Amino acid sequence: MPELPEVETSRKGISPHLINKSVQDVVLRHTQLRWKIPQDLLSEIKGKILLSIDRRAKYLLFNFSSGTLLIHLGMSGSLQICPLDSPPKKHDHADLIFADCLLRFTDPRRFGAILWLGSTPEDSPLLSKLGPEPLSDDFTAKYLYTAAASRKLPVKQFIMDQKVVTGVGNIYATEALFRAGIKPTRSAGNISQKRYQLLVDCIKEILQQAIQQGGTTLKDFVGSDGKPGYFQQTLQIYGKTGQQCPNCENPLKSVKLAARASVYCANCQH
Ligand code: ZN
Repeated sequence: MPELPEVETSRKGISPHLINKSVQDVVLRHTQLRWKIPQDLLSEIKGKILLSIDRRAKYLLFNFSSGTLLIHLGMSGSLQICPLDSPPKKHDHADLIFADCLLRFTDPRRFGAILWLGSTPEDSPLLSKLGPEPLSDDFTAKYLYTAAASRKLPVKQFIMDQKVVTGVGNIYATEALFRAGIKPTRSAGNISQKRYQLLVDCIKEILQQAIQQGGTTLKDFVGSDGKPGYFQQTLQIYGKTGQQCPNCENPLKSVKLAARASVYCANCQH
């Protein structure tokens, strides 16, 4: 599943090819994604210049003079810049056509989304309740410690709650808690501000490293074949239940939290 670093890498990969260009046409081959793609999308963006592409959480926001188009990659979605004459394949559900190239949305499992948010995107229910971006200055130990006060849920679920902080998925929550030495099942309200400082630093560091690694795949966003980079990340414990802890060599354990497997080291994480 594309996590925040992949979405940010997609944004960086496609932006230079599309910014300041106007949409000539929209081709929708399959409109039933997670929600239905609006049929009148073309009338909102035809002839309009794409001013910028932003990211909020795992949503890509295409800002036109007429309003904002949201694209979410869901479980298996990807975006690619293709030549105008490149024939669509089975899961290529939508194309935004520009003068010299097209932006192709591919999504085998169809949990992604393409939605028109109009001129007040911040009012969209998808965006209005989101917490701060993990890489922004608003995401601090003091903020997290205050938000956690008297909350009993496990800290892993707490940091994966999009209202608390956006875009920290299962992989990065698992890895950051390991680096910070915090057990995933510990109650969010039972962690000192000092330990939250370490956790905040680890979350930022891991996401930044992943975004840097993604930078090596930017060229993959252009071309008509292949799939753009869901790059290999350097993961220390995610998906490695039963294997040796990279710190202490004890076998890694796993616990289910909110139906998600959570790997941890009982010796290194408290
Ligand atoms: Zn260990």
